[in-house]
Amino acid sequence: MDQWKRCLYCGAENNTANYTCSCIADEPAHAYRALGLRFQLNRQEIAEVKAAFQNYRFDDERGMLQYPLLPNREYAEATDLKVGLTPLHLLKSFSKRSGVQVYIKDEGQNPSGCFKDRETLSCLLNSRRRNRKKAVIYSSGNAAASAALFARRHGMQLITFVPGDTYAEKIAYIQKCGSDVVVLGKASTSFEEGFRLFVDLNEANVFEEAGFDNWAVRNPYRVQGDKTTAVEMARQLQEQAHGPIPDVVIVPSANGSNLAGIWEGFRELKNLGITHKLPRMVVAGITNANPICKAVRMQEKQAPVACDLSGLREQDAQIGSIIVAEEGYDSVEAAKAVLESGGTAVEVGTNSIRKVMVRFLHRERRLALKNGILPEPASYIAMAAIEKLRDRRKLRFGETAVAVITGHGIKAQGTTRRLLKGYPELLRTAQQVIGRKRRESPVLGSKGRTGQRRVVPADLHRLRAAFRDLAGYGIQT
Ligand SMILES: [Zn+2]
Repeated sequence: MDQWKRCLYCGAENNTANYTCSCIADEPAHAYRALGLRFQLNRQEIAEVKAAFQNYRFDDERGMLQYPLLPNREYAEATDLKVGLTPLHLLKSFSKRSGVQVYIKDEGQNPSGCFKDRETLSCLLNSRRRNRKKAVIYSSGNAAASAALFARRHGMQLITFVPGDTYAEKIAYIQKCGSDVVVLGKASTSFEEGFRLFVDLNEANVFEEAGFDNWAVRNPYRVQGDKTTAVEMARQLQEQAHGPIPDVVIVPSANGSNLAGIWEGFRELKNLGITHKLPRMVVAGITNANPICKAVRMQEKQAPVACDLSGLREQDAQIGSIIVAEEGYDSVEAAKAVLESGGTAVEVGTNSIRKVMVRFLHRERRLALKNGILPEPASYIAMAAIEKLRDRRKLRFGETAVAVITGHGIKAQGTTRRLLKGYPELLRTAQQVIGRKRRESPVLGSKGRTGQRRVVPADLHRLRAAFRDLAGYGIQT
């Protein structure tokens, strides 16, 4: 099987170690993902992928590694955390109410409680191929927690970069997971400002020189991991519904990688002749805080679109902190996916999220308790979108919709409590699910080294020095 990386902007084949392309050095796309992977398969290889799809099992120890078009599978080790094989549940009450077959794909059942594990594992395998035992990431949320879990488990050194405005609890959590943390700039340094600094360090080869692989959004292997979500959905629907491809897939998004990756997965299956149609991709975001929704409204699929967050309501900012975005680093590819698939964008606010959360815990209580389902607050956006799509006639009677639950509520207990104020019984249900999850997922509470923390001014020279110091540059080889 031939595979190569190419630039999403100029189309040139690209093998740069820092995952960037010279064509975007002075472009607005400077910080966005630049590379994608392409595959060429012969007839026998296509037959093998088909067979692997039909034989994809949800009790297989290899997890998502069963899919042959996941790059670098050969670098997997028996001790690797099992990722993927997350359940797909039909929500009877939501289906009855909307006249649509509503399914949820519960990515909260991954090892760190989030879909990001698919991306992390894919990055980890590529690091092994490159013989790298150190990595950096830029994230103050689920991606960092996932990377820290895998790094600890597999003996890698991880340095996480976060912007200055990150809450102290979040920083402490990442340190507790075993990652060193570099806090970029002052307390007023925003996510976007911090990210620009991180990208500048990457482009100046600071990470490469010190032997660190970049696991942040620039890394094209992240979306390769997300592809497997589409493969699993198709296999599960083939067994549970009329056919493998849903009419609509709704993805709560910020960066857009997950949505772009799921779309790539569905397209791959169709291109190989394994399936015969494509779903409409729907991006779900917080009102006024989603660059992909904005790009879809503007029909923009070439250039990045930024969002003005000044109109964001405080309560929406709090609830959706993990999916509020000014820019999305895969938003170009995600907007393209939505527009090319004939999909749409849906924005919802806190009130809709609370309503859906209450309905879910009330109507689907038994399902939630039996299967340990507790969507993180931002994930309810996908379920809330169903009603809006019905109202706008973007989802027709009798169609099938899959709402992606991106993460587990165990990491957002404060927000969950706040939203369920006035519903003590539902809060008890949520707490029961969390208690069970804690007992069943020892990895979430595993102990080990606590990472160090450095607060560094927004200056490239000082950042470079602080990074090298933390990396043990010049001491370790
Ligand atoms: Zn290029």
